[in-house]
Amino acid sequence: MTNGADGGTANGPVTCTRCGAADTTAVAEATEGSGCVHFAEGTVLALMAGAAGTYYADERDLPWLTAVGAVVALLLLAGTVAVVRSENRDARRARAAVARAAAAGTAATRYCAACGEASSPQDAEDA
Ligand SMILES: [Zn+2]
Repeated sequence: MTNGADGGTANGPVTCTRCGAADTTAVAEATEGSGCVHFAEGTVLALMAGAAGTYYADERDLPWLTAVGAVVALLLLAGTVAVVRSENRDARRARAAVARAAAAGTAATRYCAACGEASSPQDAEDA
């Protein structure tokens, strides 16, 4: 989810000043985590899979499709939980990195997942 709010972060990749990785994330984005959105999406998909299985089991007279739909729904739910958990972990790491940078006197603007540190690249401002 990217909204170009007045964070002053330019479009395009901003290189990490610590490790040189080109894929830093805006701090606001990195620390936010969109677990709720993913959870809602995953639940909707799972319900649709379950419903589709039930529907086609009826429609085509293939009762085992109900089981297939249920299994797919469970897999989707499990996948959703895994994604949400890993996102929460990433957001927690990012917040810790921002706190470390703040303690060191840096107002971090970018978070680098590669080295797990937040930094404030100069070219983020005028790029
Ligand atoms: Zn880095």
